[in-house]
Amino acid sequence: MNILVTGGAGFIGSHVCDRLIAEGHFVIAMDNFITGSRRNVAHLIGHPRFRLVEQDIIKACWVDEPLDAVMNLASPASPRGYLDNPIETLLVGSHGTYNALELARLKGARFLQASTSEVYGDPLEHPQKESYWGHVNPIGVRSVYDEAKRFAEALTMAYHRKYGLQTRIARIFNTYGPRMSLDDGRVVPNFVRQALNNEPLTVYGDGSATRAFCYVSDLVEGLLRLLWSEEVRPVNLGNPHEITILEFAQAVKWAAGPACTSPILIHAQPSAERIADDPQRRRPDITRAREVLGWEPKVSLEEGLRETFTYFRQALELEKA
Ligand code: UDP
Repeated sequence: MNILVTGGAGFIGSHVCDRLIAEGHFVIAMDNFITGSRRNVAHLIGHPRFRLVEQDIIKACWVDEPLDAVMNLASPASPRGYLDNPIETLLVGSHGTYNALELARLKGARFLQASTSEVYGDPLEHPQKESYWGHVNPIGVRSVYDEAKRFAEALTMAYHRKYGLQTRIARIFNTYGPRMSLDDGRVVPNFVRQALNNEPLTVYGDGSATRAFCYVSDLVEGLLRLLWSEEVRPVNLGNPHEITILEFAQAVKWAAGPACTSPILIHAQPSAERIADDPQRRRPDITRAREVLGWEPKVSLEEGLRETFTYFRQALELEKA
């Protein structure tokens, strides 16, 4: 199959490319590198079934090859990424998604939209099922991401209804692993980097906010199962194992090993703007993914953190060199 991955040089996109190449597909990765990195796909350059295209899908999304599938993964995805690029984030979810959908329609390709648990906002329903419509502040600082993804879902459904396009919507929950950018401000890179440097682990608020962390290989498996399924409704993809951020800090410290002397710093304050509308609780209900895709995460937090530490150790060495 010929598959276009927008955001192919991003954290998740690059792992999707690896997996598709390993399965024998021809993969075109498209990226504008505002948050993606050439380093994430450097090992694929020169592969006969891989092509990297520098293109901003807000402006245009086109390739000459026939396509069987378009996976639209392009967007800043960390709070720092979308707060630093608010207009680009809104435009990539809207105009960029429009351009990617048009390409899929013209090529007769199936289309997968990467959506997010952020469509649920600061949820009043817990855990979150796909049927929940969400609790989003439409003018809050996070709205640039949340509303862009909600619009992208709406546009994807409109293409399905109007043109019969084969569309899929993945609502991706917190995901972690190798190739997360070291400085994107998310809790996983922050804590792992801090632990490796023996700096305090910065827990914002009192540490009682919860998240559920899915290892990237599990997520990729879910995305591909969804792509090739017949499920048009949105599907939550995430790990249902919910922990508090304080517990997560303890898990990271433990994974760092006895040499780590980092204290856990509660009430470390990020800028007030960044913490505004921070969802207090988040955990996916993955019943639909289990039933329709036969999917559930397999990698434990312990195992996933081990791989993540290995990557971050090397990445920090490279940074220092
Ligand atoms: N967080 C934290 N310390 C950090 C970074 C994040 O305590 O150094 C908290 C943040 O306030 C939130 C959770 O960790 O409650 C997850 O934040 P992240 O930025 O990773 O992603 P989000 O799930 O909010 O998109």
